[in-house]
Amino acid sequence: MKRILLNAICVTLLVIAGAGILLWARSLVTSEGLFVAHNFHRYALVSGDAAVIYTSGSYQFETSQAKTDFLDGASDALERQWRMQFATDVGGVAQPTDTVLGFGLEQYTWDIMRQRALTGVRYHRTTAQVPHWVIVLPAGIPGGVWLFRRSKVRRDRIAKGLCRRCAFPLGDTYHSCPECGERAPLPMDLPTSAAVVRERQELSA
Ligand SMILES: [Zn+2]
Repeated sequence: MKRILLNAICVTLLVIAGAGILLWARSLVTSEGLFVAHNFHRYALVSGDAAVIYTSGSYQFETSQAKTDFLDGASDALERQWRMQFATDVGGVAQPTDTVLGFGLEQYTWDIMRQRALTGVRYHRTTAQVPHWVIVLPAGIPGGVWLFRRSKVRRDRIAKGLCRRCAFPLGDTYHSCPECGERAPLPMDLPTSAAVVRERQELSA
């Protein structure tokens, strides 16, 4: 049971690592991400330019009048709804200006101007960026080690004449394992078809 769980975790890690590589490759071609808006807050998780960028922003109102001005006559009913959108080809994703090895963090607040100056309305934004390898390496290394060790164990078992799955001693007796049903590998010294043909020719000559 423990073994099944370990296998499942390792396969999951390899899938995550594969998805990370795919996401990284796609990020070089297009930016895509998930955007969520609710109650004057904005959240975005975007993959673009070889990095995963998380942005959280919020509108801040100094007075209730500032909020009314911001809504510009519209009701705030829309803001009370959760809105979610997946978008590709996201142009101009805000990335932190200073990044080290693909990592970056930035906080920024500015006044909202729009067409006319809106007093008392500010937008506060936090942006954090991590490179794709942060996903790929931690998942890929343990997954890769597991895969390598698994194949080594299986090769060693075959060399010793054991079932590659459960280590039952098959020897030359079994074509498939009586314990787990795993098929025994074909012996490496099976004659090639050309050798068989030659042998037959020699016999008939
Ligand atoms: Zn077996």
